[in-house]
Amino acid sequence: SLTLGIVGLPNVGKSTLFNALTRNDVLAANYPFATIEPNIGVVELPDVRLTRLAEIFGSEKILPAVVSFVDIAGIVKGASVGEGMGNQFLANIREADAICQVVRVFADDDVVHVDGRVDPTADIEVIETELILADMQTLEKALPRLEKDAKKNKELAPLADAARTAQELLNSGKTLFSVQDSFDLSSVRELHLLTAKPFLYVFNADESVLTDDARKQSLRDLVAPADCVFLDAKVESELLELDEDDAQELLDSIGQDEPGLRQLARAGFHTLGLQTYLTAGPKESRAWTIRQGDTAPKAAGVIHTDFEKGFIKAEIVSFEDLDAAGSMNAAKAAGKVRMEGKDYVMVDGDVVEFRFNV
Ligand code: GDP
Repeated sequence: SLTLGIVGLPNVGKSTLFNALTRNDVLAANYPFATIEPNIGVVELPDVRLTRLAEIFGSEKILPAVVSFVDIAGIVKGASVGEGMGNQFLANIREADAICQVVRVFADDDVVHVDGRVDPTADIEVIETELILADMQTLEKALPRLEKDAKKNKELAPLADAARTAQELLNSGKTLFSVQDSFDLSSVRELHLLTAKPFLYVFNADESVLTDDARKQSLRDLVAPADCVFLDAKVESELLELDEDDAQELLDSIGQDEPGLRQLARAGFHTLGLQTYLTAGPKESRAWTIRQGDTAPKAAGVIHTDFEKGFIKAEIVSFEDLDAAGSMNAAKAAGKVRMEGKDYVMVDGDVVEFRFNV
């Protein structure tokens, strides 16, 4: 499955957040390099539609989709030249499908900041710079060969051109993801550049930031077009110990109406370019993960490869229509249930039953 790699400077709250994500006891220590081995944390994607489906179908179980996060060893300046754990860090990022940077915006004199001050703009730049430098190295190595190949084979010329353009953009200090409006990221896909991966930012904030809309907007603007989430990692880990009422009270006290982890799950899912479709029956109501743009047979293949091979058609009703109708029969009577063929592109929230040959 696709994963988001959690990165960030030391002491920004990565371990704290990761603990909350996994409910594991990954050591959260107040010093650099506390998190060394990459670990995977899986969180459920909250989906109220499943509760409603379970009610309509009398399902015994609810199975939400999940989002996976990998905890990546702490970066230091100079990772791209192999300092500290730089090489391992970059190798781990290369394996992740998206980059999730935790950025400290909380004030706490007891928690040392590696550079002696809380400065989200500078922190983001440190990480970006290492990734940009790593991509520049990749291109420097790859370009001579790409250009040589392009001379022999005209079909390879577009890739060589795209690589040169990418190099110029990186030279000007930009990540490729941030210029996706003017640069087609798919044109360099096979080069596996780090800054072409989707970015997501987690601002680890305290109450003063969480309740300051103007400050949040300026942080949003800072990272656009990347998505971002605001949460208090320490509070998130505390929430897991509390019953519902106490948890709500704690959230209220920092001006939040839902746990940050829920926002993070949604944002992570979105950043990865994923969406869900739903199946429901007496046994279970379930969300299945597919990529945005996937067709019906591809979606069927997520349940079982035989479903994709033997795909005939899909019986589909949108969740909204089913919800309004109140039952599958009522939805059918209202003409809301469609038969879709193999070219149908799935829409988030489709409730589906596949017909297939075995
Ligand atoms: P990492 O090095 O990025 O993994 O950072 P840690 O998760 O180990 O956090 C470093 C220190 O900051 C620990 O003492 C945490 O308890 C503390 N910390 C993490 N998140 C927050 C937060 O949101 N607010 C405050 N005040 N402290 C935090």
